Amino acid sequence: MTGTVYLNGDFIDQSLAKVSVFDRGFLFGDAVYEVIPVYQAKAFRLAPHIERLNKSLHAISIWLDYSLAQWQSIIEKIIAVNGAGHQSVYIQVSRGCESKREHVADKRTIPTVLVMSSILDVEIAKLSAIKVTILDDIRWQNCFIKTTSLLGNIMLKQQSAQMGFDEAILHRQGNVTEGTTSNVFIVKNGIIITPKKDQHILAGITRDVIIEIAKNASIKVIEKTVTLEEIAAADEVWLSSSSREISPVTLIDDKIVAQGNIGPVTKQVHQLFQSFKQQLIGV
Ligand code: PLP
Repeated sequence: MTGTVYLNGDFIDQSLAKVSVFDRGFLFGDAVYEVIPVYQAKAFRLAPHIERLNKSLHAISIWLDYSLAQWQSIIEKIIAVNGAGHQSVYIQVSRGCESKREHVADKRTIPTVLVMSSILDVEIAKLSAIKVTILDDIRWQNCFIKTTSLLGNIMLKQQSAQMGFDEAILHRQGNVTEGTTSNVFIVKNGIIITPKKDQHILAGITRDVIIEIAKNASIKVIEKTVTLEEIAAADEVWLSSSSREISPVTLIDDKIVAQGNIGPVTKQVHQLFQSFKQQLIGV
């Protein structure tokens, strides 16, 4: 993380940004967050990110009355003070700080709002192949909430790393949900298929952009249940997220995907994504 952060109304040096040990975010993981990519000082898809943040806040009954314009102004200031390059803006809202550790929250508790920024790796714009494993999705039933309570995701991601993989594709009873930090796409006979949005996946902003630009380019996209059999038989597989953009998968456990190459649809969608970024923000 770099330089200045926003904490509860103040822009302060990160070394001075302190939150109490009684903050419910620290004690219970009672908090939600967003990660917004910033390309040359322009926040990418800000409104949908804030919309998703509001959805997460609403789902866990945290009432915070920041308007989109307020978020925009805070984020623009954080971007400006932290340098003009590519950044990754992190927003976290916890239910706030109370005087003792108590599961039932006091309705009067004031949320803790943190916004900070780190440098975004420019390498994410390059297509680089990754290898993944398939793991049982052991997480809870509310994965559409972007909560900081990420223990399930962390255990799974760590398990995949210990096995020598870059990511894990998760499934519930044979149906693919998502990656531990990403959404999943497959290609079969030129058609893009991705698990439909439900409570078991996070509605990725990158996922939505990919669907939109693919459809605009007349590539057929289907959002539906994706089984492990379908993923095993897929012509191409990729993962998407704000921090990785598009990551082609060339190995799933011991099975080579797309003959170990980056497939044509993956390349086309990646190209469309880069053009979309250029148009929107002049990268
Ligand atoms: N699914 C999970 C579990 C994630 O953590 C993320 C991103 O962090 C995504 C999907 C992708 O979401 P987005 O494209 O909005 O970054």
